[in-house]
Amino acid sequence: MIRFAADYFDGQTSRAHPVEATVEAGQLLVQGENIAFALPLDRIQVAPPAGQARSVVHLPDARELHSADRAALLELNHLTASARPERWAHLLESRLRFALAALVVSVFIVFAGLRWGVPAVALLATHTLPGWVEQRIGEEALALMDRVSLSPSKLPAVRRQALEQKLAAQCSKQACPPFRLLFRDSRLFGANAMALPGGSVVVTDALVRLSHQDDEVLAVVAHELGHVQHRHGLRLALQSIGAGAILVAVTGDIGSVTDLAAGLPSLLLQNGYSRDMEREADAYALAWLKTACIPPARFADILGRIDTGAADKTSLLDSHPGTQERIKPFLTAGGCT
Ligand SMILES: [Zn+2]
Repeated sequence: MIRFAADYFDGQTSRAHPVEATVEAGQLLVQGENIAFALPLDRIQVAPPAGQARSVVHLPDARELHSADRAALLELNHLTASARPERWAHLLESRLRFALAALVVSVFIVFAGLRWGVPAVALLATHTLPGWVEQRIGEEALALMDRVSLSPSKLPAVRRQALEQKLAAQCSKQACPPFRLLFRDSRLFGANAMALPGGSVVVTDALVRLSHQDDEVLAVVAHELGHVQHRHGLRLALQSIGAGAILVAVTGDIGSVTDLAAGLPSLLLQNGYSRDMEREADAYALAWLKTACIPPARFADILGRIDTGAADKTSLLDSHPGTQERIKPFLTAGGCT
C-alpha cells in the first residue's frame, strides 16, 4: 500500500494543510484536520520529482498535494500512468548521458549562435534598421570617444579645409556614400582613421602628419568610405550587441550588455572589422582611387608607413589582412578608369 505525508492546498488559498494520503482499492484517500476525501486514481496526475524539488500531485479543481516522499510518489506515478511532459523531464534528468548530450548541444548552440547566428542576424538587421538608429549609434560612439580618447584637431584650419575640398571635389565627380569628415587629435590612437555607423569618418592629426601628400589621406578616407558604403560600423555594433544579448541569455547577467555597448568605440577603433569587411573596403577604395585618377599606390605608401610606425596595438592594420597581401593589388593596379 502506498502511504505518504503531504501538504494539501485547496486551490482557494495559499495555506498548506498537513494531511496523510493513502492509496487503497484504486482510490486516493486524503485525511487531515477537517479534511477527508477520496478520489479515483484516474482523476489525479503526479508530476514526477525533478531534481530535489518536492513532488506535486495535481487534483481536480486546482487542488494539489506536495510531498517530499519520492519513493511513494514514484510508485503513485506508475499507478496513475501519467503521460504528462514532466514524466519525460524526469526520465531525461535521471539519465546522465542524456544530461551530457544536452550539455554538448547547448554549448554548440551558443557557439553557433555567436559564430554564425549573430553575424547573420546583424547583416539582416543592417538592411532593415531605420537610418536614424544607425545615426544614433554613431553619435553615441563618437560622443563617448570625444570624452575619452579624442580631442579637437590641432591641424591648421587651412590644412583641414584643403583636404575637405579635395574630397568634396572627388565626391562631386563620383558617387560617395553620405559621410561627414571629422578631424581629431588622439594620442591613444596615433595615425589612424575610422568609419562610424551613420557615416562619420574620423581622421587623426597623426595620420595627416604622416602623409607625404594629400592623395595619401584621400586614399585612406576612400577605404573608410568603403566601410561606410557597406555599413560595416552598424554591422559591428549590432554584432557586439547581439553577442551581448546571447551572453545575457546564457548567464543572466544584464551587466555584460552594458559593458559591450560601452566597449563599442574601442571595438570600432581597434580590431573590430573582420578581414572580409577590410577586403570589401579595400576593393571599394581601389575602384574609387582609379575613378579619382589618384594612383592606387598612394594607399600602399601610407599603409606601409603606418605599419612601420605602429608600435602599439591600436593600429589601423591590426585586424587587417597582412599588409603586404593588402598592398599588392594597389601596387599592381593601373591608372585612371
Ligand atoms: Zn578598415
